[in-house]
Amino acid sequence: MRFYQLFINGQFVDGEEKRTFSSLNPFNGETLATCARAGAADARLAARAAREAFDSGPWPRMKPEERSSCLKGLSDALNANAPLFAELEVADSGSTLRKAKEDVYLSARALGIYSKYALVDLTEQLDAVSRPGISTNFLLREPVGVVAAIIPWNFPLKMAVWKLGPALAAGNTMVLKPSEETPVTAMELARLIHNAGFPPGVVNIITGFGEDAGAELCRNPLVDTVAFTGSTDVGRQVMQGAAGTLKNITLECGGKSANIVLDDADIELAVDGALYAAFYHQGECCEAGSRLFLPERIADEFVERLTAGARAMKTGDPMNMLTDLGPLISRRQQESVLGYIAQGKRDGGVLATGGGIPHDPSCAGGFFVEPTIFDRVENSWTIAREEIFGPVLSVLRYRDTDDAVRMANDSVYGLGGGVWSKDPQRAMDVARSLRAGTVWINEWHLLNERAPFGGYKQSGIGREFGLEGLKEFTETKHIHVDLAGSRDRKPWYDVVVPRH
Ligand code: NAD
Repeated sequence: MRFYQLFINGQFVDGEEKRTFSSLNPFNGETLATCARAGAADARLAARAAREAFDSGPWPRMKPEERSSCLKGLSDALNANAPLFAELEVADSGSTLRKAKEDVYLSARALGIYSKYALVDLTEQLDAVSRPGISTNFLLREPVGVVAAIIPWNFPLKMAVWKLGPALAAGNTMVLKPSEETPVTAMELARLIHNAGFPPGVVNIITGFGEDAGAELCRNPLVDTVAFTGSTDVGRQVMQGAAGTLKNITLECGGKSANIVLDDADIELAVDGALYAAFYHQGECCEAGSRLFLPERIADEFVERLTAGARAMKTGDPMNMLTDLGPLISRRQQESVLGYIAQGKRDGGVLATGGGIPHDPSCAGGFFVEPTIFDRVENSWTIAREEIFGPVLSVLRYRDTDDAVRMANDSVYGLGGGVWSKDPQRAMDVARSLRAGTVWINEWHLLNERAPFGGYKQSGIGREFGLEGLKEFTETKHIHVDLAGSRDRKPWYDVVVPRH
């Protein structure tokens, strides 16, 4: 069994109250690790360490090349430890090994990209501000200060890196709080950070729960911005907590993304794409394509193929390279997903496949749910409106494209969306009409650290990735430099200052 302490001010320490909690392996229910449980006092200590590292430490004052080199070192260290990270990500989060290997590779790649972002000079000259000879104007982007990053359990390592990378590249210091369900790879990352030459206090990582450690980070006056990824409900609490000190916030929250197949789509591709969109990582993805819109004309054939595809998916030991779907994160999540399936049945959904716990003996000890497809779902039903965060796909049939787009946009969420068509113009028209932060055409799930990602409506505030994402971790400073030079050339002073 593994044991992890908190990482505060460059040191591994116990929590003030010496409390601990266990992180379970969702495949067998066994304890994978015991972690120090940070309380509010530990969150305050971590915030203070980050504050001091920002206000008086070298990090924000270093040359960008030096910050870049620390991030590149971390990327290299992650690559060098890839097998360990992949194995722990499987055991902690229920990811399949196939996906976890990809996650580690992509996390190291992301840190490499952010090491290059550390070198980007975001200063802009604002030529349009004044007439020539009156002033010259600049826009500076300066680090916002202390970032509190709070992340969920579905992609623990990627989420950690997606916050660490841009916050550090922009010159901030930070406190990261991983989910209490999946603290392990973040704490392994702390070990790498410890050895990678970051000054003490620049990165602090505390394992603990949202109600005390997380809430304190949102409230704490030493924190300048909260970068949160998680559910929309907790996003609201983060906003409320941060309101007391008027902090900046970014929220990457939930979704109920609409996947629209047009009647001219390549059916074979769209079927596999819809399965990938809905069931990747057991459907525990914020931008999962969990609502599938099919035109009446092709719906029967499509659902038949989809059902065959879902039945061919193998649930089981996530360490087995042949497994397609691993366990859900916890018994609570399994029960919640099964509850939604029961609700879908009560509302009158036609269960095309799945709906229960897999019979395969290899799934007996874990929190599994079969890949499940409901046909003939109405957009007003709970399973079409709420984020299930499990392997449950709702198929909705539509009359014409306007009808599909209207239903797609009839949601409190607006994170992702997709459209499948052989006609680029038709596909683009639908893509433009979807109220969502990312829309894929004949694709799903592919995100890139160079392209902004985030939600419309209650899916979030702000953007992650790309230069837009980097700017979320900066303050904007306008510098006005006078070029007029003499009193005569400043007639606006006449409003209050008499001429001599
Ligand atoms: P969650 O909202 O329950 O928890 C997320 C984090 O918030 C955890 O670290 C938790 O400890 C912390 N937290 C809980 N209460 C808090 C409080 N009062 N104050 C401060 N922090 C608090 O989410 P989850 O169940 O871990 O993850 C699933 C959710 O995350 C889904 O809704 C999913 O859509 C969302 N998600 C969104 C994105 C995105 O990029 N938009 C990505 C992944 C997951």
